[in-house]
Amino acid sequence: MISLVRFEKSVADSILSSAIDTYPRETILLMRGRVKQEEILINDLVIPPLARHGFGFSGFPNIMLPLDLKVMGVSHSHPSGVLRPSIQDLNHFYGKIMVIAAYPFQTYDDLAAFNSHGKKVPQRVVPDHEDPDKRH
Ligand SMILES: [Zn+2]
Repeated sequence: MISLVRFEKSVADSILSSAIDTYPRETILLMRGRVKQEEILINDLVIPPLARHGFGFSGFPNIMLPLDLKVMGVSHSHPSGVLRPSIQDLNHFYGKIMVIAAYPFQTYDDLAAFNSHGKKVPQRVVPDHEDPDKRH
C-alpha cells in the first residue's frame, strides 16, 4: 500500500501547466518514477501514445502503453474542478497511483493522488533532483 507520493517540483508544475494549456479539454500524462517501500517518487512525465483529448475521460487503450516499469501511474485533469476520481477513472486505473489535477490548476492543492480504491494518498512536492539515485 502506498502511503506517500512525492512529486519533484518541476513535475508538479508541469502537470498543472499542461492542464491549463489543454483547458477546457482534459490532459493526460504518464508519470514515471520509482517506488521504495511505501513511497513513490515521481520525477518524469511522458505524453502517452495516441492520447485522446476529449471533453470526457482522457483515455487511451492500455494495450498502447509502453512496457515501462518506471511508469507509476497516470495523471489527468478535471476541467470540472472535481478533485476526486470518477467511477470511470477507477475502472481505467493503471499503475500504482492516479493523480488528478482539478480546475483552476493554480496551486498544489489542485492536485491529488489516489490509490486504486479511490482513496486519497498523502503527497508532497519536493525540490528537483533531491534523489541522489536519479539518473538521466
Ligand atoms: Zn477523471
